[in-house]
Order: sequence, then C-alpha cells, then structure tokens
Amino acid sequence: MTQAIQVRGLRKQYGGVDAVAGIDLDIAQGEIFAILGPNGAGKSTTVEILEGYRKRDAGEVSVLGSDPGKPTRRWKSRIGIVLQNTEESPELTVREMLRHFSAYYPDSRDPDEVIAMVGLTESAGKRIRHLSGGQRRRVDVALGVVGRPELLFLDEPTTGFDPESRRQFWELIEGLSDDGTTIVLTTHYLEEAEALADRVAVIAQGRIVAEGEPSTLGGRATAKARVTWSEGSVETDTPTETVLELSRTFDGEIPGLTVTRPSLEDIYLSLIEPS
Ligand code: ADP
Repeated sequence: MTQAIQVRGLRKQYGGVDAVAGIDLDIAQGEIFAILGPNGAGKSTTVEILEGYRKRDAGEVSVLGSDPGKPTRRWKSRIGIVLQNTEESPELTVREMLRHFSAYYPDSRDPDEVIAMVGLTESAGKRIRHLSGGQRRRVDVALGVVGRPELLFLDEPTTGFDPESRRQFWELIEGLSDDGTTIVLTTHYLEEAEALADRVAVIAQGRIVAEGEPSTLGGRATAKARVTWSEGSVETDTPTETVLELSRTFDGEIPGLTVTRPSLEDIYLSLIEPS
C-alpha cells in the first residue's frame, strides 16, 4: 500500500514545553484519516508541520514522498488545505473566485464542475458577501479542491453546519475519497469521525493515545454491551443470551428493548481523561 503520509518520532516544543512529544503516523493513499483530541493536544501543530507551515524540532516526516520542511511549489500544488476561516474576496462572485484560483494550479479542476460538487451551482453568480455562513464554507472547500489535490487537509470543516448540510458535506468528502484523494481531517464532532473516517487517531498532550478504526477504537467492539428494556437494564458480555432470556420471560417481544455498546464519544472521553 502506498503511504501518503509517514511520520516517525515527530517532536515540537514551544519555549521548552512539548506541544508534540513523539508522534508516529502512517496514512495510506486514499484513506480518510481523522485526528481527534482536546484543545491544546497538539493537533494543529502536527497538521501544520505536515502542511509545510511549521518547522519541526525532531523526527522524520514524509508527505507525498517529500519532506514538508522543504516545500517546493510543485509539492504545494499537490496539496489542498481548507482552513477554519479563509479570507475571501467579498466582492467577487463564486465563479470568479474559483476561476481566479484554478489558474494557479497545473492540473486544476474545471471551476464550474467544482461549484457543482459543493452544491453551489445556483449561487455561482452571487457575490461572496451575499452568501450564508454554510455557503461560504462550501466556497472554502471548493477552493481547497480546485487544484485537484492528491491530499486534502480539512480543519473542522463542518463547524456551524446544520445536520442536512453536514450530511451533504460528508457525501462530498466520500466522493473525493472514492476518486483517490487522501483526506486528513480534524474535527470535534465524534459522529463526523465515525461517519467519515477509515481510521482515527486520538491525540492528548502531544502523544497518540489510541489509533484505529472508529468501530473498534479503544476496545469498543469487545466492550460490555448494555441491554435495556422497559423495566430494567444490565451490562453484559453476552447480550444475545440476555435478550433470549428476556424474550422467554416476556413470551415474545421485549418492550422498549435496546442493546448498545460504548459510543465513540464514550471511548474518546475515557481516552483523554487526565491520568
Ligand atoms: P490543538 O490544535 O490540539 O488545540 P495546538 O497544536 O494548537 O493544539 O497546541 C498544542 C500546544 O502548543 C498548546 O499548549 C498550545 O498552547 C501550544 N502552542 C501552539 N502554538 C503555539 C505557539 N505558536 N507558541 C507557543 N505555544 C504554542
């Protein structure tokens, strides 16, 4: 499998204090990888080093086969970055903005195709300043992908989205991934990581404290299940057995039955608890 990103022993200090304290990462080409962690954990520092915007103190880093500490123009053109607040020219229309930026890249996508991808076709002739917050966010994403990046960094992409826009956005990201784009995402929404990411890493205090598929992270898939019904609730390793017994007791349907395992949020919160 080709690696889009390879990191070994990454370290970064600010004023003698570890912000990133030894991180290893392997992100495969075409993967959607989410980086989770509380504020101050070292996520932005890590991502900015990968993007070529920050110098590291130590460690080996390869992004699309090159050292991001020595970024070249050609390398930069292969990477898309969607920041939290992009400054856009308010007086330009969506189409003008996309046309303008597409000219910077050697193999850019057609601006109108990108506008359609992010669901802004009907607003293509509108000035940026007349767009809603959610529509501006789509412009940010459009600008991030117009250069046809092989690797796309998304920093909390759906903050402030309503549930419907968030789902549409997830479809857009999945579509890019299906086309082979590698996606590195930071998010505070655990359900977003769960819906989108092939793998997640949880960072706390500059270190990776867990890494894996969202469905199995931190022993989630093998954790005890909670069986709840209208009259009670038990935690058990053998939920099927419990349900069978209950079904016999009730002689059929069990009123109010649910069987749950810890959510990604439960696991996440237990992982970042200060020890
Ligand atoms: P996150 O993105 O997970 O919130 P950051 O990477 O922004 O975490 O920050 C990690 C730690 O490094 C925090 O303690 C933060 O205060 C510190 N830090 C980040 N940037 C700087 C900087 N430019 N100068 C000094 N300290 C910084």
